[in-house]
Amino acid sequence: MSEITHRQHTRPVKVGPLTIGGNNEVVVQSMTMSKTDDVEATVAEIHRLEEAGCQVVRVACPDMSAAEAIADIKKQINIPLVVDIHFDYRLALKAIEGGVDKIRINPGNIGKRWKVEAVVKAAKENNIPIRIGVNAGSLEKSILEKYGYPTAEGMVESALHHIQILEELDFYDIIVSMKASDVNLAVEAYEKAAQAFDYPLHLGITESGTQFSGTIKSSAGLGILLHKGIGNTVRISLSADPVEEVKVARELLKSFGLAANAATLISCPTCGRIEIDLISIANEVDEYIQKIQAPIKVSVLGCAVNGPGEAKEADIGIAGARGEGLLFRHGEILRKVPEETMVEELKKEIDKLAEEHKQK
Ligand code: SF4
Repeated sequence: MSEITHRQHTRPVKVGPLTIGGNNEVVVQSMTMSKTDDVEATVAEIHRLEEAGCQVVRVACPDMSAAEAIADIKKQINIPLVVDIHFDYRLALKAIEGGVDKIRINPGNIGKRWKVEAVVKAAKENNIPIRIGVNAGSLEKSILEKYGYPTAEGMVESALHHIQILEELDFYDIIVSMKASDVNLAVEAYEKAAQAFDYPLHLGITESGTQFSGTIKSSAGLGILLHKGIGNTVRISLSADPVEEVKVARELLKSFGLAANAATLISCPTCGRIEIDLISIANEVDEYIQKIQAPIKVSVLGCAVNGPGEAKEADIGIAGARGEGLLFRHGEILRKVPEETMVEELKKEIDKLAEEHKQK
């Protein structure tokens, strides 16, 4: 497994069996779309997310029937479960009783002190962290009045206000998000937050848009932060099937060498020299390697002109050659394969390599 290094120093916080922060891997999260009290649908959705590589899943908890469903959901899934609660401390207590692994709630919005204390006490007793979710769109009135409009400074001030409430109760298992739908604002807020405190940061550009535009916005913003070593867990917010969020998050982490044990694809942009149906082959191989848990680089090239040279970068690859393909391993030609069986042959070699990595 490749070591993830160069992270900014943050406090390690346990979320179920995982640790977020410290020098640990950046964790991929997503959120379900099903009504949480529809246990069957929520569990099925979580299983699909798990399969796609989601490591922590969040569910909305808008009412008591959702909070009551937590215990049933928790029993049927394998990854840590987070509940998203706004204001109502009773929902937090019920979800904690149901075995949830983390709650997202802003202590400053819970209301009376004794209610905050009750939630913190239950979280402490059950070793559950609290995520403070600062959102540019819902900053406290006093902060908005002070700054006039949502600013990065105002967002940090809001985070510090919620952090202080928890710290006063001797609670430090805190994770913080600083979301905004404006990319520049979100980046600035996260940068300032990373300077202001050392709690792990949950990255996200909120309401970023459709699968296409949201992928670009999220990658642009989160890319800047990840490159600087900021961010310990990510959620890509898309108006799309949440499985797509996981795929984008994983690919983003792979781009920065932050996903241990993930396979990556190198595929050529195609040109007039193309000898095979490169685009569909690349898509099929890309889909296949999503589930491969080994740091393998796979290349798919449209022709053999630059094939051996370009394929050197990859552990395994294929270059098109008039109705057939040259199969490469570490830049050396293994054999020629007909176009019809090319993808199957490549998949077999990928599996072999993955197996070899497992044995190491
Ligand atoms: Fe063109 Fe071949 Fe390069 Fe693909 S690998 S871009 S087909 S020259």
